[in-house]
Amino acid sequence: MASLKVRGLVISAKQHKEQDRLIRILTSDQGVLLACAPGAGKLGSRHALSAQPGTLSDFNLNFSRGFYYLSESELTEPFRGLYEDIERLTCAAHILEIASDLCVSQEISSAVYPYAVCALHALSGSKRKPTLVVSAFEWKMMDLAGYSADLSGCSCGRADADERYAFSMSGCRLYCLRPGCLSSSGDYRVVSRGTVEALRYIQSSENTRLFSFTVNDEILDEMVDLTRRYLCEHLEKKYCKMDLLASSEDFLKI
Ligand SMILES: [Zn+2]
Repeated sequence: MASLKVRGLVISAKQHKEQDRLIRILTSDQGVLLACAPGAGKLGSRHALSAQPGTLSDFNLNFSRGFYYLSESELTEPFRGLYEDIERLTCAAHILEIASDLCVSQEISSAVYPYAVCALHALSGSKRKPTLVVSAFEWKMMDLAGYSADLSGCSCGRADADERYAFSMSGCRLYCLRPGCLSSSGDYRVVSRGTVEALRYIQSSENTRLFSFTVNDEILDEMVDLTRRYLCEHLEKKYCKMDLLASSEDFLKI
């Protein structure tokens, strides 16, 4: 029986038989591994914590009859801060959903892995705004998935000093707001120069640096709107988990 030692981030878990869990483990160089965590659903199970989505652990896996089974697991990072705040936990669930959808090959899994781990670290700590972490992660994932936007400016070359731009969703690029340029942009969102600069920063930053910036609330609102729409349009999926936060805010206002 072949065995494998690997560190990985659990990106999803579902019940299997009565007390087992089937978990998907995102790794830095083995892609996404599907493994059975025997007894992980039992109270006090030795695998209970490391089979939880959004935790990082070292796993010993045995391969048998076409399937991995957990023999040992040691929790290395529980990201405890996520469980102290419903907003941070919801953001983490959204990030895991995106990672789970994107990681269909070993190549993209290796690229996504460090960003998913850094994003959970940033969310688990209290220094970064959760919505900023999510927006930066979404925009970086679009780069990795091959939907990198061209943020160099309008092709007319006259927009360098403009304070506002049009971002074309279908053209994946910027236009200036002059009628002649705007007429060929298709579906667009108007964004400020500050938002464009934040998006450029994300494109050029790696790992923990990706989340090491701040923007004002107006720019953050524009970023959140643009990166979510861009993500949903290009991955052709409505990501709904973050909507729960908007509806819970309405609920709390009543
Ligand atoms: Zn132009």
